[in-house]
Amino acid sequence: MNWHPGHKSTDAPVKAPNLVDYLETCAEFSWESIRKEIDGLSDGKGLNIAHEAVDRHADSSRGDHLAIRWLGKDGTIRDFTYSDLKEQTSQFANVLRRLGVGKGERVFVLAGRIPELYVAALGTLKNLSVFCPLFSAFGPEPVFQRLNRGDARVLVTTKRQYQQKIANLQERLPQLKYVLLTDADEDLAPNLLSLPKLMASVSSEFTIPPTDQEDMSVVHFTSGTTGMPKGAIHVHGAILHHYMTAKYALDLHPGDIFWCTADPGWVTGTSYGIFAPLTHGVTCIVDEAEFDAERWYQVLEQQKVTVWYTAPTAIRRLMRLDIKPREKYDLSHLRFIASVGEPLNPEAVVWGQRVLSLSIHDNWWQTETGGIMISNYPSMDIRPGSMGRPLPGIEAAIVRRVDEHTAEVITEPDVEGDLAVKLGWPSMFRGYLHEEDRYRKCFVGDWYITGDLAERDSDGYFWFIGRADDIIKTAGHMVGPFEVESALMEHPAVAEAGVIGKPDPMIGEMVKAFVALRPGFVPSEELRMELLGFGRTKLGSAVAPKELEFQDNLPKTRSGKIMRRLLKARELGLPEGDLSTMETTEETKKP
Ligand code: AMP
Repeated sequence: MNWHPGHKSTDAPVKAPNLVDYLETCAEFSWESIRKEIDGLSDGKGLNIAHEAVDRHADSSRGDHLAIRWLGKDGTIRDFTYSDLKEQTSQFANVLRRLGVGKGERVFVLAGRIPELYVAALGTLKNLSVFCPLFSAFGPEPVFQRLNRGDARVLVTTKRQYQQKIANLQERLPQLKYVLLTDADEDLAPNLLSLPKLMASVSSEFTIPPTDQEDMSVVHFTSGTTGMPKGAIHVHGAILHHYMTAKYALDLHPGDIFWCTADPGWVTGTSYGIFAPLTHGVTCIVDEAEFDAERWYQVLEQQKVTVWYTAPTAIRRLMRLDIKPREKYDLSHLRFIASVGEPLNPEAVVWGQRVLSLSIHDNWWQTETGGIMISNYPSMDIRPGSMGRPLPGIEAAIVRRVDEHTAEVITEPDVEGDLAVKLGWPSMFRGYLHEEDRYRKCFVGDWYITGDLAERDSDGYFWFIGRADDIIKTAGHMVGPFEVESALMEHPAVAEAGVIGKPDPMIGEMVKAFVALRPGFVPSEELRMELLGFGRTKLGSAVAPKELEFQDNLPKTRSGKIMRRLLKARELGLPEGDLSTMETTEETKKP
């Protein structure tokens, strides 16, 4: 398969935006009209993400259009037209069927950005099984927690990942029936199978069964302040939202070449790295390699990327380098840049205008919302530092909780409160797996309370203030302090651990641990390094603490909860706030 010359983007990326007049589009918006723009399974048999993303294009005149161009680390390029993707995802669905894996059963993928991940994701959805991605930089403990809590039935992975993270865990995962290895030519054991061999043995024809909009599609694990990660449940009907937001917030047009740099281990990498752009029938660039500034500019140039969706940490890394991309690279195809995942500093917007000759459009959403909620649009002036305005069909507000059942909308501008979204958008999460209580607590009346604090200005632009809880955002990835603390506590020297996000100019926040040692252990540089190494081995580099400090005793509430808020305030030299609930011992007094 080669790049189809007929689909080369033009050199003049001037396009009328899909959203020209914000207020008019909002006023005229209806989900019914969006529903008419997508397809639906034939004979009214529902809405299936894989049908909208792949089969409907493959069965149309777009069959030969490039769906995914995969750029390997080593320079290999693999191209998948929509027809190729239809065939391969059908094969994967047939593999699941052959193995007796059915509707609602969870298929996990633990791999870097390899083509098999994309095929498995969409093939899983064809079979009405549930796709659950795992970030490839997770260590064995986060992998185990998620496979276990997600009732993994099948895991697709590579031999290396298997050896490093799964081989020793399998006994603890009795419900995990099959591990499918993407790079094994032969089966290695009765439940450790070669995926290529299986794929070659099945048909490439598959008819998607009737799919209800409410059928479970994807489970994304996300971190909480307390407890282990939560599996946020999504449904096939979310595709309406993916389609709509890619149209208005990412401004996708036919012929676009779209690059979402997020990893599918996280929600942006699936909603917008796979589903949303394919639903528009555009070409997606997938780069297997990790961030490298020169490589990224080369990808933008060589692949003639027209729309680029990236993240603040990456932008800050680019900003720090003395590269003049407009002089060194031909970026004339690039039309639109968007960013998500953490606050986009106003300087980054200004840098984009100056160095890339394009504004960077921030948008806001989270795992639970399933898709973009608030955005800056190409037709609107950007207010640097603001997340923008809610998407058509979305009602967002700043609210104050009155009681368990009532939230009051704060109508005065520029007042801090809880960022909330009115229930009823299609990609809203439908639960946390096995955690009904935790789910229910996210709602007050008909508002979903996001856990973020924000303000709304008099023109309706939203401004991010921070999290209302202790969740850490590091390099755009969510890390739950409890998961890190639990892992550290497994070291024999550790009596207590408290973990915070320490502000970092490059990666937003850095995971920092405070540790109190058990009797008989004394703080030393050697032990500090050992604990950091222990964290890395168990948790993986994406989650493990980068800094660790010993303290004799950690500040706790009278009920024994470690006061991370206080650890953070002390770390940053900020006021300590209300200490009335604090347990008072000589040791916990401020050092
Ligand atoms: P996740 O569920 O991992 O996608 O993380 C969602 C969280 O990331 C949100 O609740 C915010 O705290 C943060 N976030 C996402 N987008 C933005 C943004 N544009 N500005 C500030 N914070 C953001």
